[in-house]
Amino acid sequence: MQPRRPTRQIRLGNDKTGIVRVGGGLPPDHPMADGSVAPAPVSVQTMTAGYTWDVDKCVAEIHKLHTAGADVVRVAVPEKKDTQALKEILAQTSVPIVADVHFHFQRALEAVEAGVHKIRLNPGNINDRAQVEDVIRACKDAGIPIRVGVNEGSIIERKDKQKRAKELGAVFSNHKHGYMLAIMIAKLEEYLDIFYENDFFDIAISAKSMDATLVIDAYTEIAKRFPHPLHLGVTHAGPKETGCIRSVVALGTLLANGIGDTIRISYANDPIYEVQDGLELLYTLGLRERKGAELIACPTCGRIQVDLFTLVQDVNKKLATDIRVPMKVAVMGCVVNGPGEAEGADVAVFAGDRKGIIYVQGERVATVPETEILDRLLAECLSFQARVESGEARLGEKKVDIVPPDPLGELGSGWEKMAAERIRGVTDLTIGKT
Ligand code: SF4
Repeated sequence: MQPRRPTRQIRLGNDKTGIVRVGGGLPPDHPMADGSVAPAPVSVQTMTAGYTWDVDKCVAEIHKLHTAGADVVRVAVPEKKDTQALKEILAQTSVPIVADVHFHFQRALEAVEAGVHKIRLNPGNINDRAQVEDVIRACKDAGIPIRVGVNEGSIIERKDKQKRAKELGAVFSNHKHGYMLAIMIAKLEEYLDIFYENDFFDIAISAKSMDATLVIDAYTEIAKRFPHPLHLGVTHAGPKETGCIRSVVALGTLLANGIGDTIRISYANDPIYEVQDGLELLYTLGLRERKGAELIACPTCGRIQVDLFTLVQDVNKKLATDIRVPMKVAVMGCVVNGPGEAEGADVAVFAGDRKGIIYVQGERVATVPETEILDRLLAECLSFQARVESGEARLGEKKVDIVPPDPLGELGSGWEKMAAERIRGVTDLTIGKT
């Protein structure tokens, strides 16, 4: 992991929503230094899928996404009835709201007037200098930042692309994505000049594409050139199953290289998955402190003797709703590799022949039949959580450290029994009897 890239910091929100800081840490002698000493934790954002003008549904969706962990929520405002709904939406929500503006600069002015906490502009479709300056002025007066989003899809038809691509062509001549990078960088330079000339520096930048490798290259080049926080994303990533791979490859690579200050994973699905997967990505990279339990589970193999897939799904759902502390929970299919793979778990179950042995911080606390594993495991997690919260126990203090039981013992499966008996030269074995 590379250290986070320092940037100018932007701030979204107010006393009611709390302030979400994005980026930061430019050295004090940098011309755009803002006094922030270090980059803020990488934030997770998403976008509502419903109509903004439908206030009740929009508010309900924002609440759902905020509760799931979204630090910032963006809403589309294609029509005046959408910006007219913003005041009421803002009154009923407590998370910073971004207005996503395309084509109509008036929507940006109306959204600022309504009190949104950030505007997103697209240089590909709002490029009249006077209009951009009107938006800059409004945001400056309101003290809110602007994201400049140069998505691949929306800048490709710019009429100046040939000229600008030629100018930058030499810089990226050996680059796989040279042509598109040239257009993106040129567009950003040109657009940001308008902001700088108007003394406006509270800017975030995004450069999304549906091609994960272009996303990696574009943000890497932009990070070298502009001292602004970067909003990472793979746009139109597709259904969750494949979109997850695209997004994690691109965003994970950039974040591991210290690039990126706020992220949005985008799926053709309920945006709650974008929030959940975005948070999990940041937890996995150690860029955010985990909230709630971390579940470790084995992939299963021919040794399995319980319905582990169902058990894991059920445990996962229960942990998500019932567990607040970042305990590690392991659900392992057997005792052959289970103990080693579950090392570090606070609570663990090792399944065997239609039963499971449950451990809490290395202590064996119960052996239960398969039908009772879920309830007992969760009861132990809740009890452990209560002890952690009261200070009686500490997370990760005692690791699961068990010696695998004799395969012929209470958890031994038929497979292990046969293997063990072969080793011992025993031939008269009743498989499955414990
Ligand atoms: S823990 Fe046991 S059942 Fe699960 S994958 Fe490993 S060996 Fe197979």
